[in-house]
Amino acid sequence: MERLAREISRDYQGLNPLIIGVLTGSFIFVADLVRAIDIPVTLDFIDASSYRAASSTGEVSVERKPSAVVKDRHVVLVEDIVDTGSTAAHIMDLIRLGSPASLSLCTLLNKPWRRTTEVPIAYVGFKVPDNFVVGYGLDLNESFRNLPDLYTVDES
Ligand code: 5GP
Repeated sequence: MERLAREISRDYQGLNPLIIGVLTGSFIFVADLVRAIDIPVTLDFIDASSYRAASSTGEVSVERKPSAVVKDRHVVLVEDIVDTGSTAAHIMDLIRLGSPASLSLCTLLNKPWRRTTEVPIAYVGFKVPDNFVVGYGLDLNESFRNLPDLYTVDES
């Protein structure tokens, strides 16, 4: 966390980046991340999801778009997990339609094992095995988001 915040603070010095968190899974990560960033930032959220229970549907639905104007802003999209990559790729395409000055991706967890859509990730917290992870904002059927740490689910 501190490392990611340091890297973002260094890379976006003087640029007042717009941090866009992907709800709901990233809410705790975003809260911790922005408090550790020591440059001015603005904050927004997008509500998008592709997961139903423990398997991906591959479809991405956007329930809430960011209210901030992204035109000419330096945008950092913050995900909880990049797994197949389709959610992040879809959201990045959407943000690009608004003509940001730049766009990068930050994720708490990277699960590269089932990647179907290549997305460049500028800031990665941890690379994790191909297990289903809950806690620290991440859910299984809307449960477990409040667990203070990350846990893997035994799916058997
Ligand atoms: P992708 O589109 O990259 O396959 O999936 C990204 C989204 O799926 C993440 O933002 C996250 O919400 C959800 N997801 C992927 N893997 C996991 C996991 O292990 N646990 C939880 N709770 N959600 C996951």
